[in-house]
Amino acid sequence: MTAAPVVSFEHVSKSYTVQGRRFDALHDVSLEVPRGQIFGIVGYSGAGKSTLLRTVNALERPTSGRVVVDGREVSALRGKELYAARRRIGMVFQQFNLLSSRTVFGNVAYPLRLSGLSRDETVDRVEELLDFVGLSDKALEHPAKLSGGQKQRVGIARALANRPDVLISDEATSALDPQTTGEVLDLLRRVNDEYGVTILLVTHEMDVIRELADRVAVMQGGEVIETGSVYDLFADPRHPTSKRFVSSVLHHQATPGALDRIREVHTGRIVRLHVEDRESNDPFLSRIARTHGVDFNVVYGGISELQSRLFGDLTVELLGDDVSVDAAIADLRLTTTVTEVAAGA
Ligand code: ADP
Ligand code: MG
Repeated sequence: MTAAPVVSFEHVSKSYTVQGRRFDALHDVSLEVPRGQIFGIVGYSGAGKSTLLRTVNALERPTSGRVVVDGREVSALRGKELYAARRRIGMVFQQFNLLSSRTVFGNVAYPLRLSGLSRDETVDRVEELLDFVGLSDKALEHPAKLSGGQKQRVGIARALANRPDVLISDEATSALDPQTTGEVLDLLRRVNDEYGVTILLVTHEMDVIRELADRVAVMQGGEVIETGSVYDLFADPRHPTSKRFVSSVLHHQATPGALDRIREVHTGRIVRLHVEDRESNDPFLSRIARTHGVDFNVVYGGISELQSRLFGDLTVELLGDDVSVDAAIADLRLTTTVTEVAAGA
């Protein structure tokens, strides 16, 4: 993370006064979005995600704090300077925001004509972009004829028209079905890979973060409650809300109800092993079982891979005499995080 960030939020707050009462939509948000990365912001509805995102192109202005994009404080720009800064920032919307009276070609050409490109340059650029998003054959259609996924691909082509440094995306896939969501996420990944565009995306869907993001910030009540690599968030979420988000997509740990049912059948000592970064190839379960003469019975669990690293939880029943089981647990603690989840019946 040595390169200068493309976007920095510095102590950004935004308050609204509704019916005489002040309300903080954003409270002291500080974040840096590294160049070339895909940075996700996740949170429940009302967390302040859209408000924060819209400060990047000054659709919203902070009540206090600064938003710096490419070294310029956009939150202070006005007029022509703001217009020029906005051209460096592409935006993708949940509801696509296409011009229904224009064709696909016309929608993608629109920002180029506004930028003063010649007719020939515009045609070349639009053709290149439609090829990139796989819609060359739809150039003359109107948006009403397109599927949701196709509309969003037009939205992405339009957002890329002026060769932005950063693409901001507000719930770009939230109106799409899972299959189409996958296609749009693949396209966003290509935008990042092939064009080197930094992407700042807002979503309430953890799957989108898992599929696409390098780094992530979790927002709640207008504040950033946790931020870090996507691996760290999924492998070891700290804030209760982050844990809730992670458990919405990963089911590595048994629910209390499932544990109760497991206990009815498995009456030995049950422990949960949290495993991370097991790159050493140490077959620790069988090794420890052999050393201490205990048996392991896996009763629940899951291992996932993210950013080429493994993590997960295994809930195991240990079978053997008390002294051996205690020794095995002590040995497990050297390698993994062990949580005793039930005493034997
Ligand atoms: P999110 O995108 O995470 O769902 P938003 O940024 O849209 O959240 O909204 C954050 C909070 O700010 C919400 O409670 C919302 O009602 C409030 N809010 C957003 N815009 C305005 C506005 N123009 N006037 C008053 N309240 C607003
Ligand atoms: Mg929103």
